[in-house]
Amino acid sequence: MKRLTLTICLVMLCCTIPITAQHSSNVPEVSPMPMKPEMTEIWEPEVEVVTPGKVLGDAPSDAIILFDGNDLAQWVSKKDSTKAAPWKIVGDGSMEVVPGSGGIQTKMKFGDCQLHVEFSAPDIVEGQSQGRGNSGVFLQDRYELQILDSYNNRTYRNGQAGSIYKDHAPLVNAMRSPTEWNTYDIIYTAPRFKADGRLDSKARITVLHNGVLVQNNSVINGNTYYVGLHNYPSAHGDDVISLQDHGNKTQFRNLWIRKL
Ligand code: MG
Repeated sequence: MKRLTLTICLVMLCCTIPITAQHSSNVPEVSPMPMKPEMTEIWEPEVEVVTPGKVLGDAPSDAIILFDGNDLAQWVSKKDSTKAAPWKIVGDGSMEVVPGSGGIQTKMKFGDCQLHVEFSAPDIVEGQSQGRGNSGVFLQDRYELQILDSYNNRTYRNGQAGSIYKDHAPLVNAMRSPTEWNTYDIIYTAPRFKADGRLDSKARITVLHNGVLVQNNSVINGNTYYVGLHNYPSAHGDDVISLQDHGNKTQFRNLWIRKL
């Protein structure tokens, strides 16, 4: 038995040695070049300087100011884009939804962006669920980041403040009371479409609500619909940002955007 085992081992060794020898003779051994610190340093082009706002939430130097409290010059009516935005400026440098007047939309169109929005639900608490302090930010005029008075106001989880309406619930409820202001800091990646119009990649969104992460690079599953599953019915490019009139006197201030 020992002799048989030894024989098998010798046969295996004989079969192995030539293959190994042949392999090593064809592939010369190359010693890797020793790395130096500068070999992983990239200097050009120099990174562009942007001056940040004095206070967190203030617009940085390269932002496009969409609303600074003075006028609605960057906005038009959603019902008729040839007409001025029908919402009103109120005393403290904010704008307020005029219920029934319709939404408003930016004059400019955007794709990938960083968007800062401040909003406050009506001070007088009326209604419940979706009827309280409802508005919304529509990225590319299609995908709604919900605005709602979600302070002590239960509704379906994928319809409360910080949700991608009827798509993604927020991670947490970070809503402040109606007498306070809220911030949304939004990082938005637009959907991509192939040359033939088919969807290549879905939109994505990250949202901080009052500095709290509520959407973490969430996939947006398509156009926001009140009824039915969301989808991407057709290819599109850059488009306006719109704010919703849902019949509540929601207020907005300090809106700015950076194209990415
Ligand atoms: Mg809404």
